[in-house]
Amino acid sequence: MFDRLPTPYGLVRGGVAPDHQKIKSVTKVYDRLASQPGFRFLGNVEVGRDLSREELRRCYDAVIYAVGAPSDRALGVPGEDLAGSHPATEFVAWYNGHPDFAGCSFDLSAESVVVIGMGNVAVDVVRVLARTQEELAKTDIAPYALEALAKSRVKDIWMIGRRGPVQAAFTNPEVKELGEMPGADAVVRPDEIELDPGSAAAAAATDDHTIERNLATLRAMAAQAPAGKPKRVHIRFLLSPTAIGGKDRVETVTLVRNRLVAGATGDMKAEPTGETETLPAGLVFRSVGYKGTGVPGLPLDAKRGVIPNDAGRILDAPGQPAPGEYVAGWIKRGPSGVIGTNKPDSVETVESLLADRAAGTLPSPAAGRDAIEALLKSRKIRVVSWDDWKKLDEIEKARGAALGRPRLKFCDLGSMIAALDGTA
Ligand code: NAP
Repeated sequence: MFDRLPTPYGLVRGGVAPDHQKIKSVTKVYDRLASQPGFRFLGNVEVGRDLSREELRRCYDAVIYAVGAPSDRALGVPGEDLAGSHPATEFVAWYNGHPDFAGCSFDLSAESVVVIGMGNVAVDVVRVLARTQEELAKTDIAPYALEALAKSRVKDIWMIGRRGPVQAAFTNPEVKELGEMPGADAVVRPDEIELDPGSAAAAAATDDHTIERNLATLRAMAAQAPAGKPKRVHIRFLLSPTAIGGKDRVETVTLVRNRLVAGATGDMKAEPTGETETLPAGLVFRSVGYKGTGVPGLPLDAKRGVIPNDAGRILDAPGQPAPGEYVAGWIKRGPSGVIGTNKPDSVETVESLLADRAAGTLPSPAAGRDAIEALLKSRKIRVVSWDDWKKLDEIEKARGAALGRPRLKFCDLGSMIAALDGTA
């Protein structure tokens, strides 16, 4: 298993919110797999930079790319690139101590923050902004983020959905949590959760309990008078941003009210009514989905942000599978689903791989896998092994324990390698 970072677990480490420690316990399953004979971790090695697709092909019978979707989707509205307007993915990676984003900065002196999107990432961002210092101090949030959030002057956090509550992409435990924050009131406008006939019919017809539970949660929030907590989380529906305004940096977000109309496939689509409203915003997070950028040398469907594939088999061209090369996860199906969704997704890929092996269509690599090590050595790459990672893991946990936190993360590559090589 290769990882461009010295640390494993991808989004479990760099994406799952720090106040959701329980979700991170899935790493125990990965650790069990990693303890199997024959498993090797080669961390701090970036495929496409330190090793090419061809080199991997030459050394392994099969390669599975599970590189995720590291970039973000744009909104396409004027002012999107003003200072203070950020992709939510950047903020998430920053507060989780991802080395590529540790140097980012966010102006938390703003009192009003607008988050565009109604998915679980938007909920994570809103929740981290709304948490009290006491709550965050018990997590493994990056130390610089804890310090910056301690000075935060954020009071009003607006989460903006372009469609209604039936179409919201968040799951129920996530939105429910917004109503149970010690330091923030959840505010929902009753008129914005009234259902249009199409959405009411869709809600009545579905056996998706998430919709039913979300509606119950939002109705309870709308019925509740704010308790006067220091911060407010405003969950707003049927609004699309049309412009992000400001002279040198963001100051406002202009929104247009939408109505829902049935699309050709029966899906409810947002249609602008022309009625607008402007919110003050010192900071804007665009949380409208991640986007895959692929791997140099491999095909990419740039529009969808996925590597074209058939049941996990990479397609060099339509109907032309690349022997022994596969994909799994977000780079295979797009950036959707929770951690558990990746299990059946991976099973499908591995079944394709095993079927190809049984059919004898896997290529025979010219060089063995040890050739990879020689190659990396010749390129002077400091490969981080599983034992190295375990050492880092222990150090992070010990540093955290001293502060009553689950771990204190290393947030830059230099300090990780220095801790391993004894120069820290
Ligand atoms: P997501 O679930 O796809 O949500 C994207 C949101 O952005 C939707 O509400 C979508 O609205 C909205 N949107 C898209 N384009 C827009 C536009 N142009 N203007 C306004 N709104 C727009 O994506 P995500 O939140 O990035 O999450 C990615 C995946 O990770 C999801 O499957 C999520 O459940 C998962 N995740 C799970 C957890 C957890 O389990 N706690 C935490 C984080 C992430 P429309 O529906 O109208 O398109």
